[in-house]
Amino acid sequence: MSDTIEKLKCLIIGSGPAGYTAAIYAARANMAPVLYQGTQPGGQLTTTNEVENFPGYKNGITGPEMMIELQEQAQRFGTDVRDGWVTKVDFSSNVHKVWINDTKEIHCDTVIISTGASAKYLGLESEQKYLKLGGGVSACAVCDGFFYKNQEVVIVGAGDSAAEEAHYLSKLCTKVTMLVRRDEFRASKIMAARVQNTPNIDILFNTQTEEVLGDGQVVTGVRVLNNKTNETHEIAATGFFVAIGHKPNTDIFKEYLTLDETGYIINTPGTAKTNVEGVFVSGDAADHVYRQAITAAGTGCMAALDAERYLAAKDSTFEVSTAQY
Ligand code: NDP
Repeated sequence: MSDTIEKLKCLIIGSGPAGYTAAIYAARANMAPVLYQGTQPGGQLTTTNEVENFPGYKNGITGPEMMIELQEQAQRFGTDVRDGWVTKVDFSSNVHKVWINDTKEIHCDTVIISTGASAKYLGLESEQKYLKLGGGVSACAVCDGFFYKNQEVVIVGAGDSAAEEAHYLSKLCTKVTMLVRRDEFRASKIMAARVQNTPNIDILFNTQTEEVLGDGQVVTGVRVLNNKTNETHEIAATGFFVAIGHKPNTDIFKEYLTLDETGYIINTPGTAKTNVEGVFVSGDAADHVYRQAITAAGTGCMAALDAERYLAAKDSTFEVSTAQY
């Protein structure tokens, strides 16, 4: 452990749209924020190609480019953006203690958690290959569905997300084949009924993915296995969507923060406040419903404003800046 402890007014953990937006607001409010980027600088958006639904980019922008712009915007106002990830926290007192890479110790007046969530993938080699190539594998139909307009796609999963995304895709694509590994949905009855009643969604029960097929550059189909009959067959498709759940990156906070049963941080509704005073949350770490870059950015703004007001209430010499509102 290091013997020099750094003291900060505001620490931001995570470098997706939530973290950088929090940083822009916190820096402009004289909170001298330090942002640790985490293990995936730029967050989930760095794994998408074109982002076309973030307001302000009328011609679209790639995910990685957008995250560089957000980082530069945060740095322009003085955010100290650093490499490194948080390995341990202690939120048991007013001084919030955080350890970086198991060595550096920081004491913070406020902490903004923007650690996001990670989409789960099947883990097949072929799936990961086309995901990395940007060649037709996606875990976000709302982000990427448009690229498959008038094409045939496959989606894996049977929960509410898969049902919602299959329905979304059915409005864009000519055919959506949904692969359900058991003989029933996990999704709520109403969501399951919606996909079952959509003519261009073909549901294959007891069916799992054996391999994502492609030409070396892009996806061309999927080989599936019926786990009741042991028969395999191929389905032609240009897109392979995975909707088997997300895992919020919140494990290190669970000792101190109230989480729901899947690990999402529970915030006070309408605010970014957690159950620990001075600790705020933004982005997908607390959001299993919307999970969009723009909603993450919005809650990043809320977290910085809540943190600023918390500091002002605690310390009469710290003035809430009004210029930014
Ligand atoms: P869930 O955990 O509810 O569902 C995951 C689905 O993926 C399950 O059907 C599961 O199958 C399947 N799955 C998991 N691993 C594999 C695998 N290796 N191969 C094939 N299939 C697999 O996650 P969701 O993201 O759907 O939902 C998360 C939470 O968010 C839920 O509480 C949900 O209700 C909520 N939600 C609500 C929405 C709404 O109300 N509008 C929209 C979206 C989500 P199996 O069933 O066999 O385990």
